[in-house]
Amino acid sequence: MDATVLVCGAVFDGSSSELGGRTELLVRDGRIAEMGSSVTRPEGAELIDLSERTVSPGFIDTHVHLTMDASHLARQTLGSSATKALTGLGLAREYLDYGFTTLRDLGSMDPDFPTVDLRDALAAGVVDGPRLVVAGHVISSTAGHGDLSGFYASRWDLPVSAVADGVAQIRRVVRREHAHGSDWIKTANAGGYFSAGDDPARVTWFDDEMEALCATAHQLGLPVAVHTGAADACKQAVRCGARSLEHAYLIDEEGVDAATRAGAYLVPTMQMTQEDLAQLRAGTLPEQAVWKFRRDHQQILDSQRIMAASDVKVAFGTDCGMFAFSHGILEFQAMVAAGLSPARALRAATSVAAEMLAIDDIGVLRPGARADIVAMPGNPLDDIAATARVDFVMHSGTVHRRPGDGTQPA
Ligand SMILES: [Zn+2]
Repeated sequence: MDATVLVCGAVFDGSSSELGGRTELLVRDGRIAEMGSSVTRPEGAELIDLSERTVSPGFIDTHVHLTMDASHLARQTLGSSATKALTGLGLAREYLDYGFTTLRDLGSMDPDFPTVDLRDALAAGVVDGPRLVVAGHVISSTAGHGDLSGFYASRWDLPVSAVADGVAQIRRVVRREHAHGSDWIKTANAGGYFSAGDDPARVTWFDDEMEALCATAHQLGLPVAVHTGAADACKQAVRCGARSLEHAYLIDEEGVDAATRAGAYLVPTMQMTQEDLAQLRAGTLPEQAVWKFRRDHQQILDSQRIMAASDVKVAFGTDCGMFAFSHGILEFQAMVAAGLSPARALRAATSVAAEMLAIDDIGVLRPGARADIVAMPGNPLDDIAATARVDFVMHSGTVHRRPGDGTQPA
């Protein structure tokens, strides 16, 4: 039986607003066996000195796309499912180095289910990497945010995503996602910035369509994550019982209040806005995004401040895949810049994200929890940028990175 003792200088336990002092953790069989000022030291246990570091539960990114590459959307869409799964595995492993021990992938553009295969291979230990929670595709109306069929050569009569219109088709597609192993149902009820021919400020689903989607998902026991933008689209998502609102680009106070009352989670993907702003200023934003993002960017930043000023549950998510995974860790800094406290940003990536995913043994440090543990020099409550200096990563009790290994993230 492998045992590891971690000697920690300070501890963020996933839930508190303050750091705990010097703490020891005994890790055994992939879980935290003991936690306290001193723990049992079984014979042969490895002792790891993190006394100069702050230790935290492993980070959870609840919005990634391991099989998408925004800069080569057309080309990667044409790749085989196996290529996407293998490329996604490489990205997931790279992302683990930054401290992300659990990821929720919110959709691939593929006729098959490459992320479901990847999730299962990771869970079975066939390949090594972070824990994965998956929504197979982005269910979208024709010409909606998830309809990228135009990228496929027409002679390949294959759906690259999950396009549906009207109640009957929507029910069918939700059932198909469920049958093929999706953990979540992902949909878009507003347009997006990088997708052509739609508008984030417009609601795409009619109420009966969105109601049918959510009701079918709920009947099958699946939670719903909604890419959303327009204030009315955010409210529609909450009304229909969505568990998470992704981006919520243009949410207003009324929408935030509705989400708070309903207990829905917001995943505001704030670093992506910073990435897009940088591209807008540099003149490198893709053409189809320019008019929409130029029109909306100030309102997006205002909406982020409304979220920050509220008590709504905010979960950490980046949309990496739409930008480089090496920048995902910067979401912490973007959240704090938008007005969230560092403790709330850290909880968003640990206990709150775990609660949203309904996985009760991650996102916290306590006896019995999975040993998903990261450590960084410095105090992230004083300086949130410390999160970008994670140099120790343990996943389910296995050390993946230790101080002195590898290079620092960008
Ligand atoms: Zn996304």
